Amino acid sequence: MNILVINAGSSSLKYQLLNPETQQVLAKGLCERIGIDGKFTYKPEGKEAVKEADVAMPTHNEAIKAVLDALVDPANGVIGSMKEIDAVGHRVVHGGEKFAKSVLITDEVMAAIEECNPLAPLHNPANIIGIKACQALLPGTPMVAVFDTAFHQTMPPAAYMYALPYEYYEKDKVRRYGFHGTSHKYVTQRAAAMLGKPIEELKLISCHLGNGSSIAAVDGGKSVDTSMGFTPLAGLPMGTRCGDIDAGILQYLMNKYGMDIDKMLNVLNKKSGVEGLSCVSSDFRDLEAAAAKGDSKADLAQKKFAYEVRKYVGSYAAAMGGVDAVIFTAGVGENDKAIRSMVCAGLDFMGLKLDDNANDVRGKEAVISAADSKVKVLLIPTNEELMIAIDTAALAK
Ligand code: ADP
Repeated sequence: MNILVINAGSSSLKYQLLNPETQQVLAKGLCERIGIDGKFTYKPEGKEAVKEADVAMPTHNEAIKAVLDALVDPANGVIGSMKEIDAVGHRVVHGGEKFAKSVLITDEVMAAIEECNPLAPLHNPANIIGIKACQALLPGTPMVAVFDTAFHQTMPPAAYMYALPYEYYEKDKVRRYGFHGTSHKYVTQRAAAMLGKPIEELKLISCHLGNGSSIAAVDGGKSVDTSMGFTPLAGLPMGTRCGDIDAGILQYLMNKYGMDIDKMLNVLNKKSGVEGLSCVSSDFRDLEAAAAKGDSKADLAQKKFAYEVRKYVGSYAAAMGGVDAVIFTAGVGENDKAIRSMVCAGLDFMGLKLDDNANDVRGKEAVISAADSKVKVLLIPTNEELMIAIDTAALAK
């Protein structure tokens, strides 16, 4: 089965054509600057050719058209005709409380996704445009929506409710939703396979540490808590997002500097996190280089990040009454051994010991805990596209 996976943003669109059974990626690429001038990248698997071209993309329709044309292109294409695309899986950021699983897209589903727009005003409308563009160009091909929030719908009310007046939940749907669900689901399933145990018997803590970061407590295969909240601004400090802060700071700074709420949120989303703290960069590679040269703020930013991750690991172990394995994934989690080491330092008391030699690894599945560590530590590269393709294939059948 060939599944086209689409991750549509407001001005960009990532795509991958893959076979979820064999896990073979046939082609992948990126459409950028949609609505501006249009930049198109296409990489067929097993061929050297990487096509980068300027393709006019006034809307997402032209972007999807460019993807389909490239896939069936006689020279560099990977399929004979569009009929060989069996289904399309769309990443959708917010499914609210309506979607606890991936679903086959119908008119009712589209309406329900649109109802979630106010909860993710930057993302959901772009996801919907991507779905509509595909429906127009691939009529009759089954389409599936895979939600970032769905995996976390199993959280109990004590984890997802905020201590705000109840009416804000009832009337306005204000609660913790959590994000990165597709990634947390994928790596926890892989962890069970690596540990050779049914996921139902495992307590796992999944640390998705990238540009955006979140942690999930996964008990018996179900998300029971996660660090992101009503929006992806909550939880850990991230590349440029502040994570959890005292809400009282907003009033203080807004009054002092005459900022309106949009300006304030711009600071919290785009000028904070490790970049804001270090005054160096949002990229952990730059932080490490600067810290190595003696930059104390870059050093502090790394320490602050690792400290917050460690606190979540401890608190989620308490929330679940134990933990069998801690998983590191995403850009920082998969590549940054120093951060992994800082996170795990001092956790011997709960039976977690890293093996420094085993930790000297990047971007591949590995057990990085010491042989006598009661809690296993796993490095598992995430693969959201594969997870989306697996869900899509299952529903399209
Ligand atoms: P996104 O949240 O955008 O999907 P990724 O999961 O791809 O982000 O993570 C990107 C981040 O991963 C970069 O900003 C950088 O901080 C970090 N990163 C990537 N490679 C390395 C590396 N070799 N060492 C340390 N950090 C890395």
